[in-house]
Amino acid sequence: MKLARLAAAAIGMSVVMAASACGSAEKASDTAGGGSAEGALVGVTMPTKVSERWVADGNNVKAALEKLGYKVDLQYAENDIPTQANQIDNQITQGAKLLIIASIDGKALTSQLENAKANNIPVISYDRLIRESPNVDYYATFDNEKVGVQQATSLLVGLGLKKADGTDGDKTGPFNIELFAGSPDDNNATFFFNGAMKTLQPFIDSGKLVVKSGQKDFNTVATLRWDPATAQARMENIITTTYTGSNKIAGVLSPYDGISIGILSALKSNGYGTPTQPWPIVTGQDAEVASVKSIINNEQYATIYKDTRQLADVTVKMADAVLKGGKPEVNNTTDYDNGKKVVPSYLLEPVIVYKDNYKATLIDSGYYTEDALK
Ligand code: BGC
Repeated sequence: MKLARLAAAAIGMSVVMAASACGSAEKASDTAGGGSAEGALVGVTMPTKVSERWVADGNNVKAALEKLGYKVDLQYAENDIPTQANQIDNQITQGAKLLIIASIDGKALTSQLENAKANNIPVISYDRLIRESPNVDYYATFDNEKVGVQQATSLLVGLGLKKADGTDGDKTGPFNIELFAGSPDDNNATFFFNGAMKTLQPFIDSGKLVVKSGQKDFNTVATLRWDPATAQARMENIITTTYTGSNKIAGVLSPYDGISIGILSALKSNGYGTPTQPWPIVTGQDAEVASVKSIINNEQYATIYKDTRQLADVTVKMADAVLKGGKPEVNNTTDYDNGKKVVPSYLLEPVIVYKDNYKATLIDSGYYTEDALK
């Protein structure tokens, strides 16, 4: 009896202690949000400088934060997971008041985010959702499933199975296609692929599209770290094993412009891109300069434009609201479950870029100058 009472008292004590620890935590975050935001340090981590979109993202976020008077520590990790984890830990040690993170491996930052939480530092997931952590406060991104739908739509339009306005195209196939997906550790890659397959599946079911290699499931078609060389090697392999004799590839679903460049190289070294053997329809994403030029030259067929200026803008507005103790605007509270919670998100709209609308989408919007695409 006595022992039980003692145990109960001990539990009671620890509950009180935990509650007061919580209390002081709340208080610290109140102060952080209640006026101490001015000139605060914000830690920004981006995956790599290899792809130009992340360079633009980093620069845009930094500039917008600095314009509001914040100090910024911007880091790139060259796709190395431990490097990114260290950068985040360092930012916490340096006294960052908020973290903006575009992760490399969405599941690899759980302990960094625990560390952030213990220090009352809010976290915004940038473009890619950080998974398996309850300590992600907000998420700013594009409608990732829609990106996949648009990639598949551009493939169907290029093949003539659909028209750009969504109506039926003049062609009926059957067309041989091959599928590529992004990095399996990037949550976005699944969204892109699912959106694309939802759109392509009816055409596969009706026999208008044939995935001749038989490689259709996400893990088989995924490309670790979105690496162009990995995709190039896989495309080479598929060509030599599947496309023998008169079998030709008519279309390739590619999830990212860098991967499209790898795919086009493999096709080129196997005789595609000539008057007798034209390029297949190859899709993409990010509207990177080299790929827009490739579209203008009739090589890559289409890409998806995601205005990274808008993403930076939305994210910095979120950060500013959180740092000032307010609630940022979100427009999706259902779709992005990270395995621990549904993260309140702001989704932006992606746009398909074809040769015939690149001027209207990319130049008229000021995203690129005409000269940059020459
Ligand atoms: C981004 C894409 C990008 C890809 C490779 C994804 O998480 O959403 O825009 O093409 O990573 O960098």
